[in-house]
Amino acid sequence: MEKDEESFQVTPWKVEGKVDFDRLVELFGTSRIDPPLLARLSKLLGGDLPPALRRGIYYSHRDLPWVLDEYTKGNPFFLYTGRGPSGDVHLGHLLPFELCSFIQQRLGVDLWVQITDDERFLFKRELTLQDTHRLGLENLYDLLAPGFDPRRVHVLFDTRSIRALYPIALEVARRVTFSTARAVFGFSPENNIGSIFYTALQSAPAFLPSRKEGRPIPCLIPCGIDQDPHFRITRDVADPLGYPKPALLHNLLIPGLQGTGKMSSSSDAREGAIYLNDGPKDVQRKLSHAFTGGRATVAEQRKLGAVPEICSIWALWRTQFAEKDAEFDEITRTCRSGELLCGECKGRLIPRVQKFLEQHQERREQVKSWVESTIVEA
Ligand code: SF4
Repeated sequence: MEKDEESFQVTPWKVEGKVDFDRLVELFGTSRIDPPLLARLSKLLGGDLPPALRRGIYYSHRDLPWVLDEYTKGNPFFLYTGRGPSGDVHLGHLLPFELCSFIQQRLGVDLWVQITDDERFLFKRELTLQDTHRLGLENLYDLLAPGFDPRRVHVLFDTRSIRALYPIALEVARRVTFSTARAVFGFSPENNIGSIFYTALQSAPAFLPSRKEGRPIPCLIPCGIDQDPHFRITRDVADPLGYPKPALLHNLLIPGLQGTGKMSSSSDAREGAIYLNDGPKDVQRKLSHAFTGGRATVAEQRKLGAVPEICSIWALWRTQFAEKDAEFDEITRTCRSGELLCGECKGRLIPRVQKFLEQHQERREQVKSWVESTIVEA
């Protein structure tokens, strides 16, 4: 658990307050993605990068240069990411999958996805195992919609793939003490014993391909920085178990439409996020009421300009909704200068998001025909 004494808290299960992402890099001990590393990544990926990498949404890493070195030496990495199915999927959840899609299309590497239906069951008392299983499948349709090669996708659905995961999870669990788990995650005596074991299961996919192949295969995990604590434990046990330490690529957390924390899929926060099953009217309503960095009056905004860095609308422009950098830069500049007013800015964004969701929902339907074939049943 990491808690800034004054303003924010970030754990894999809770994000509260106004998160200082620079401070988080210090607290977690990760490395910033700097321009030379970005240039190297761009070269490897064919000369360009998606907006999330170009605009600093992916901003932190662990051991990324090592993974790139191995790839260049002829030892390709695999991608690993996942989802805890506690509700519908929103735009923030899609970020790592969009990046994985881009990387797979450029490099042809495998993607391993973990669906942690067991973990959501353990941590969310209101959900049954049937609920988390159903949500896991529904979520997969959304998460794989950005475009993947079905032959290179392997889904570890915890309650269905447990025989593949369990032997490795046991190896991990034997090396993680309760005091470590408590220090990293902030467990209290009220936590159930399943939740304490859970991090061992989340480590297993990072090692599974190496175990199957009988040789060290590098692993790259794109994820929200709130998930880093899990993988610190994974990395700590990797060496003693004879596996390579997984490398990480961390994204910032997309702020909720109410302006703080991150987009959340808890049911009381439905208005605070754009869900992938939202219709055009939902998008219109939610974005019209979204928190911005604008001023109290038009006159004040014209005079002083607005503050994009705190604006939930700007956070969406920063992703793929402003595809070209020239447009994104123009929005940022005119926002700051006061030339662009929030009503106009929202009016431009709303149809983009509506169109994106319409296309996404079509792609999602196509995924249904092949998802089952990717689930590891062992
Ligand atoms: Fe946000 Fe747009 Fe208003 Fe700037 S002009 S604060 S980006 S809504």
